[in-house]
Amino acid sequence: MILVMKADLPSGSPELKRVLALAESFPGITAKTHTIQGAFRVLTEVHLHGPTAAVPTEPFEQFESVERVVRITERFRAIGHHGGKVDASGFTYNGVTLSQQTFHVFAGLCAVDNRENVAQTFAALKKQGIVTTRAGAYKPRTSPYDFQGHGKECLPYLFELAGQHDIKIVSMEVTHEAHIDEIMSALRASGNATGVMLQIGTRNAQNFELLKAVGQQRELPVLFKRGMGITLEESLNACEYVASSGNSQIVFCLRGMKTNLGDPHRNFVDFAHVPVVKRLTRLAVGIDPSHSVGRKTIAPDGISDIAHVSAQGVIAGCNLVLVDIHPHPDAALCDGPQALLLDELPGFVADLNIVREAYEKRVAANRANTVGAQ
Ligand code: PEP
Ligand code: MN
Repeated sequence: MILVMKADLPSGSPELKRVLALAESFPGITAKTHTIQGAFRVLTEVHLHGPTAAVPTEPFEQFESVERVVRITERFRAIGHHGGKVDASGFTYNGVTLSQQTFHVFAGLCAVDNRENVAQTFAALKKQGIVTTRAGAYKPRTSPYDFQGHGKECLPYLFELAGQHDIKIVSMEVTHEAHIDEIMSALRASGNATGVMLQIGTRNAQNFELLKAVGQQRELPVLFKRGMGITLEESLNACEYVASSGNSQIVFCLRGMKTNLGDPHRNFVDFAHVPVVKRLTRLAVGIDPSHSVGRKTIAPDGISDIAHVSAQGVIAGCNLVLVDIHPHPDAALCDGPQALLLDELPGFVADLNIVREAYEKRVAANRANTVGAQ
């Protein structure tokens, strides 16, 4: 059961304490407060755990501060959509709103290799008016002999250059709890020149201790990459670990599934799940066409496989496109074959915008059809 509290309820509110006490007076029930910094206001929910079927809704509805009481049947208490009976969350971080309604391109380096390449990449983004990027400092690699990322050593120049180029969010993978503190210290040392969204890579999708660690801090939002070899439900449960630990500022990112059935693509593209995740959860949904396709092959129509699958995600309503670009892909230390050239970025973004516009027209047309049918 979820109690949706009225807007902007102060966390120390005496009535909230009485609501919690009443909830816990029922046998076997524990109650937990969830505060979500929504895109427009602070949302407070009280989640009741235990045998809630025996708990009546009426006593809670009497409270002035309770907006509504929602009986839930889904397993995803914190991130669940609950049939639209709870507020879709979304969030604003460092001036950028990420929700099921917004659309952003996070283009950048798979791995930070040197200052010059970061500077050139950020200059290309600035030219396009893009304020969101990706940059890997901690790289989980299949072989221990491959480049592992520069780690915390590159953070000072990365954040300084991000600030200089008006970058508001850098999506950056963490593979260990200690990386969170390293990033926060480097951000502070840069005078908070930019912001960071902590990326959980597909290989850590069920690293529950790491999920709890990114969930226990609320300063930085989280981009969760779907597990490459687990079910959608298992990946959603992983996000539930983050949210139930305290941080609901999560983007769910599809990145393809590991199976040879997707050959010749690196992974089997799973962007048909964009509307599914939007229906099941309140999370903004991203796609990563680069790690899905893994190569820059061009179809006979002149459009690359990466642009084609991006279009599939965008036409289905995704909220974020995470894409690898690099000034010199041939010399890149990680995933060069899938990186777009900086010169290819404007055309790629223009193509995305065509498809996003078509998606918005589809939404309007379908809404009109539904209204007409009623
Ligand atoms: C990445 O985005 O750099 C990455 C390693 O992706 P994934 O975890 O999806 O493989
Ligand atoms: Mn990569």
